[in-house]
Amino acid sequence: MAVRQVLKQGHMLLKEKCSEVDRVDSSVELVIEDLRDTLTLFQKERKGDFAISAPQIGYPFRIIYYQDPLRSFVLINPKIIWKSDDMVETTEICCTCNSGNKKGVKRHKLIRVEYCDEHGNEFIEKFINELAFTLQHKMEHLNGKI
Ligand SMILES: [Zn+2]
Repeated sequence: MAVRQVLKQGHMLLKEKCSEVDRVDSSVELVIEDLRDTLTLFQKERKGDFAISAPQIGYPFRIIYYQDPLRSFVLINPKIIWKSDDMVETTEICCTCNSGNKKGVKRHKLIRVEYCDEHGNEFIEKFINELAFTLQHKMEHLNGKI
């Protein structure tokens, strides 16, 4: 169990495209544990921060951890396979990018995402509104775009 330091926007490691995860081994499990611990701490301090990506705590892998009061899950190698034309303007909260920086971002209202969980199960899931916006933001972190 470890809470990691969250990198701030502009950090070198956040500008790299993250690698795909080939298989979930103990080192990947460790990354997931650190993501959970770090996000949980942030959520105690600030509301509205629902997800964190591995590069935000310095691991260059395509892993996102999501947690809200109703559900928590891990997305490994997430890929958007469909998105709605419908765009929504949103304000995003992220522990790397201060909320003030991300005002007025336009995101797809609906996305369909292909991903694996920590047990290697594959999913195709549709996400809408806030959850969709959050995942679009975190996937940009995986691509080194924020
Ligand atoms: Zn961010």
